[in-house]
Amino acid sequence: MLKLLTTPISIYYFCVVDLESPISCPLCDSKDTTLFMDSTDYAVSGESYSLVRCNNCGLIATLNPPTEINDKYSKLNLELYRVDKPRRFFDIVYYYMRYITVRRKIRLVESKTGMRRGKLLNYGAKSGFFSSRMSDRGWTVTSLEQHYEKRMFSLEMFHHRMMDLTELDSIPKNSYDAITLWHTLEHQFFPGSLMDKLCSVLKPNGLIFVAVPNTDSFDATFYGNKWAAWDVPRHLWHFNPGSMMMFGKTHGLVLMYHRRMPFDVFFISVLSEKFRKSRWPTMKGLACGFLFWLKTNTRRDRGSSIVYVFRKKTEYEA
Ligand SMILES: [Zn+2]
Repeated sequence: MLKLLTTPISIYYFCVVDLESPISCPLCDSKDTTLFMDSTDYAVSGESYSLVRCNNCGLIATLNPPTEINDKYSKLNLELYRVDKPRRFFDIVYYYMRYITVRRKIRLVESKTGMRRGKLLNYGAKSGFFSSRMSDRGWTVTSLEQHYEKRMFSLEMFHHRMMDLTELDSIPKNSYDAITLWHTLEHQFFPGSLMDKLCSVLKPNGLIFVAVPNTDSFDATFYGNKWAAWDVPRHLWHFNPGSMMMFGKTHGLVLMYHRRMPFDVFFISVLSEKFRKSRWPTMKGLACGFLFWLKTNTRRDRGSSIVYVFRKKTEYEA
């Protein structure tokens, strides 16, 4: 039985897939799909999942994921977000990389929107660090976050109040100058319907920033099924630049700009080395990450993660 939970728009979520049946790509509808590889949830449950790839647009989907990402599949590590007391070597490196990454995100949003004090919606706001920094700079920030613990953490740590995801339904149309999804889209059961809602609350000249892992990256090729950014079953969708551009186009968006997220490759390489059971995973991961980082200086489409900046189509382009 092939059961697709369809949404009113273009992307479906594979709930129960019988591999004997042909699988259509939920994004481009191509029947040219193949079983790509199996990957294991090394981080939490130890379960294995198959990945199916569309040979037309490049989208990869996690097959038969659980219908709910509950405690069995997620491990909250808010300690990693605590900004004031990193102790272990890896935490210290992570802390400084995160600090620089947030500064670069701020610069990207402000330079692409050309604004210093606009209205921002941060969907999947996690610890609230980016949101609170934007708020400090004078932006009016709405942060939506699924996990209660993270909402409380943001309030306690940054005095930044975040709301539950369901609040998106009560936001008036054409409200925001910028919408950010930092490593959030790949977790969505219904990314298509989410993108439609986000487009409706974006102002006509507003921008959407989407950061996701890149399946065409040097590190994805090198680590194969032990690439930490497969992160099954939490990551349901796996994009490359081609499939992300098509995803945006399907929702009336035009890709303006994309670039690598420079430090994700270090974090992902260290985790991947741990999954491979390397002897010196931190040192080896940082060394490999540095090599991949060097190579992507000239090949931004091969970065570990990529941030895409979309604008809405104008009425003349529609
Ligand atoms: Zn496709």
